[in-house]
Amino acid sequence: MQEDSSKAPSQEQAASRLQKPLRLELKQACQDKAVAGGLEAFVRRWAPELAQGFTGYAGLGPAERLSAVQGALAALEAPQGKDEGGTMKAETVPGPAGAPASSLRLPVFGPVIRPSDPVTLLASLGPKRASVLRGLGVSTVEDLLWHTPRDWQDRSRLRSIAELAEGEMATVQGRILSSVNFRTRSRLTITEVAVQDASGTLSAVYFNQPFQQRRFKQGELVVLSGKVERKGPRRLQLQNPEAEVLPEGGEEALVHTGRIVPLYSLAKELSQRVFRSAVWQALPCLDSLADPLPQAMRERLRLGPLAAALRTLHFPADLAQLEPARQRLALEELLMLSLALAEKKRLEQENLAPVLRGGGLPARLMASLPWALTQAQQRVWAQLGGDLAMEKPMRRLVQGDVGSGKTVLAALALAAAVGEGWQGALMAPTEILAEQHLRSLRRLFEPLEVEVLSLTQAQKGKGRREVLSHLASGQPLIAVGTQALIQDGVEFGRLGLVVVDEQHRFGVRQRLTLSKKAKVEPHTLVMTATPIPRTLAMTAYGDLDVSVVDGMPPGRSPVLTRWVGTKQREMVWDAVRSQVAEGRQAYVVVPLVDESDKAEWQAATTLVEELRFGALAGLNVALLHGRMKPEEKEAVMAAFGSNQAQVLCATTVVEVGVDVPNATVMVIEDADRFGLAQLHQLRGRVGRGHAQSYCFLIGDPKTEEGRKRLEVMATTSDGFVIAEEDLRLRGPGEVLGTRQSGLPELRQADLLKDADLLLQARQEAEDLVRLDPGLRSPENQPLWRAVQARFGEKLELGNVG
Ligand code: ADP
Ligand code: MG
Repeated sequence: MQEDSSKAPSQEQAASRLQKPLRLELKQACQDKAVAGGLEAFVRRWAPELAQGFTGYAGLGPAERLSAVQGALAALEAPQGKDEGGTMKAETVPGPAGAPASSLRLPVFGPVIRPSDPVTLLASLGPKRASVLRGLGVSTVEDLLWHTPRDWQDRSRLRSIAELAEGEMATVQGRILSSVNFRTRSRLTITEVAVQDASGTLSAVYFNQPFQQRRFKQGELVVLSGKVERKGPRRLQLQNPEAEVLPEGGEEALVHTGRIVPLYSLAKELSQRVFRSAVWQALPCLDSLADPLPQAMRERLRLGPLAAALRTLHFPADLAQLEPARQRLALEELLMLSLALAEKKRLEQENLAPVLRGGGLPARLMASLPWALTQAQQRVWAQLGGDLAMEKPMRRLVQGDVGSGKTVLAALALAAAVGEGWQGALMAPTEILAEQHLRSLRRLFEPLEVEVLSLTQAQKGKGRREVLSHLASGQPLIAVGTQALIQDGVEFGRLGLVVVDEQHRFGVRQRLTLSKKAKVEPHTLVMTATPIPRTLAMTAYGDLDVSVVDGMPPGRSPVLTRWVGTKQREMVWDAVRSQVAEGRQAYVVVPLVDESDKAEWQAATTLVEELRFGALAGLNVALLHGRMKPEEKEAVMAAFGSNQAQVLCATTVVEVGVDVPNATVMVIEDADRFGLAQLHQLRGRVGRGHAQSYCFLIGDPKTEEGRKRLEVMATTSDGFVIAEEDLRLRGPGEVLGTRQSGLPELRQADLLKDADLLLQARQEAEDLVRLDPGLRSPENQPLWRAVQARFGEKLELGNVG
């Protein structure tokens, strides 16, 4: 058949006519100025088979334009094989969403890259960079695509230097004129980089980062972003701007400028540009990325395609698209986490636990108390008693603000175990606290003739062997200790209940190790005084049931809290002296970031000397710190407990749990150096009796955050308010300590913002685990495998199925 060239141009003709204007369009940053009348009409005329990708071109964003042009160029430049023609279109013509579907370096007909391929298949990622990437948890192309940006920079609207105004944040692009280091008289190294665009020049300055000078070479193109400051009467500058040297023209430049560009969290050996190029090359893989969520669930939750959300996060056409895309991924992430937790809980409850009704012992203990339980205590005890009387292992978290009276709840639960002929263990985070628990439990249980043993690190030799053989014998008793309880060689013969006090100090792993000592699955009670924001509790302890002791023993009045500057500290010592004169006692706490930090430990010692011979002369001021031997600590605590010492000057070893109701003053030195949770804990050491108590926060905070913390402390004593504020200031990883707590790191979800998503995810997960325990059905299996891959190790899910 004769080809009619007047109607439909041949492929070769189209290619030659199109390529030039398309390349020009690329060079001009896709401004639709390459051909008169607009690119869309032009393509429609010369290559109707490519026209679909140019629909509405004039109205597209820069990224969409770019991908349309690149797609078309790739199609035109590809070899003209017949059967490849079909795939060619599918691969390179952008979809209706206008998302980039082609890659830069990746030849359309080159090896097709799959999500499971190693990143080294991508251009510019050699073995060296790949090993840096491995450090970021990125080995495969799929990992790379999941490494979503930490921020974005809008380089689609670059400002010209001439129009910049002092004080604004701006992104400019220009050529480097010079880059020099010089030193000021005050021995500061300043790097000054002069940059020019069509409208004028500007300098970028860096302080004391001499290496910056080498980054900028004369003649190179650079994007700078930062705050515009005045340098001289007619000159502006950017101080410490974020800078990126751009590739010279051509297609690659368009990945890095003229659009909203992603910025990633990277190791310093890796540039944004290299990483961004790699992601760009990997984009075509998105469509073959499997979404583990079953179709029906995605529809129910109205989740759009995974690929689109990831693509948007990496290369958004518009900043407004980011939040919906993030939420899409956050919900999926929270769903997987919730499934892991729901399944973990289900599995644990398949085991059998002893039925602990207590044989009347809890009632006898209760009758021996000098006061009645508060309503909150009664309610929580009812829940605990109910759990313990069941064959399913209890997994319960008891939350209660400092001083709400959790110890007696632990004692009642332990009584239920012992009364039934089982052993109970109480694990505390510090020796001091273990020691204190030992004393109070002995006081409670001696009249009931229950043996209370202690196991600490310090115990050696015969004493230790005796304790161990008692534990192993299985005779009913209560063991109190620190991590020493979970060391190798500690065996319980008949462990029915484990109580973990101040859980946030222990990892999930440790909790389980202790449990494994038992022949059956013991019940677990976790107590924490650090109020945990609900969203955190649901993730970190999502496999636990939660009870809240939401009331204080009667007669407590809030601790009066004052923040005082270091210059006013005399007034603090006056207050201490007058309280001591009334028979009360005081704590003075000094910060100690690290027990091994000798300088600070000396600071504590020095302060004690100062107080003894100065402001508090005549009072018995005792010193307590982490480097003391256990016997010494014990002696000091005993002296303070019996009011032989009126003032206890201590490092943060007193932070948790110490209970001396006669102490009414808490003085915290350098208070701005403590975290909110810690401050709240410390303040909780006073206000434990009927007398009015006082807390003095001494500090001249140098940071805004430090100031904020002291303000919060001075204005509220509500532990939950403080916890929320803490989470806001520090973020979840810090609040719980990701490493210690076993809280899995969340990449997309933000527990502050996503509380609603979390609730939704949790509901969905619980329903699913109820309907399909173990997620064994074929449609749920891929989901379960994904959950295990993501959270299995962290949550010790084991390998099921
Ligand atoms: P926390 O919850 O911080 O562990 P504790 O268990 O140490 O609190 O209790 C704080 C203080 O309150 C202790 O001195 C304890 O004896 C006392 N206490 C506990 N429950 C009551 C109650 N129902 N009535 C009066 N005092 C109580
Ligand atoms: Mg306690």
